[in-house]
Amino acid sequence: MNNAFLFSVDLEDIRFLMEDGLGRPERVPANVHGYLEWLKSHGFRCTFFVVGDVAEAYPSLIREIIEKGHEIACHGYRHIPLDQQTPDQFRNLLEANRNALTRAGAKNIQGFRAPIFSLTEKTAWAYEVLKDLGFTYSSSVLPAKNPFYGWPEFGPRPKMIDGILEIPMTVRRFGPYRIPTAGGVYFRVLPAFFIRRSIKKIFRSNRPLAGYFHPYDIDTEQERFMHPEINDSRFYNYLMYYNRKNVFRRLDAIVKRGFTICPYAEYVRREMQGLAKEEPGGNNL
Ligand SMILES: [Zn+2]
Repeated sequence: MNNAFLFSVDLEDIRFLMEDGLGRPERVPANVHGYLEWLKSHGFRCTFFVVGDVAEAYPSLIREIIEKGHEIACHGYRHIPLDQQTPDQFRNLLEANRNALTRAGAKNIQGFRAPIFSLTEKTAWAYEVLKDLGFTYSSSVLPAKNPFYGWPEFGPRPKMIDGILEIPMTVRRFGPYRIPTAGGVYFRVLPAFFIRRSIKKIFRSNRPLAGYFHPYDIDTEQERFMHPEINDSRFYNYLMYYNRKNVFRRLDAIVKRGFTICPYAEYVRREMQGLAKEEPGGNNL
């Protein structure tokens, strides 16, 4: 499928990752509604990768997302990176994640995204577990060097691994770095000309544009505090708040370019059909 923009929301509540988090104002429903409104204004459906504890805290919000036709996929029961879990723990927590989403009304859950893109060469055992539990795809790899996680050798294209289609984040060269074009903080911080140029190149490349956003990425009203999972870095925390007000404007520019947002599961289904046609009986699908 050409010109697919795999826009997705990693639906997590950062308050659940902080010791004093529940004393902070609730922001997730308002931000999810912001995304839903924007998607509706363009007539697009997308994928929400949902953490299990968020589904338990906001079941009616999950139902609303489903009713609007969006896909629900897994993002861990709690937001724990894979290298902090054993394969058995991963399996149990993933089942708990899926059960929580199913209780909230999700059906036929097929996809997974590792918290903080923590699926790397070291944690590639996760694919076997995903396959075993009946998942069909993952979008958990950042194919670049990164201060937190990254798998630079993975390469830019979607790939079958142990029966799971891995769709890596789209990255572009920026000086000596490769960075996600349409991913949360990068999307806000990168200069507009870089985003425009990258999008143009990806549009011509016949690859999907895979990107991720969080509830806080569009939140212009959130109070200031040190975000979790950034090693208490004041610089990263500054970036966590940077340019949130322009996210929808930048997203509009991608859509204007001709990209079509579609849920991952639909993209995966079409890709699998294409692969099966190309190599009848000759692949591991
Ligand atoms: Zn996440």
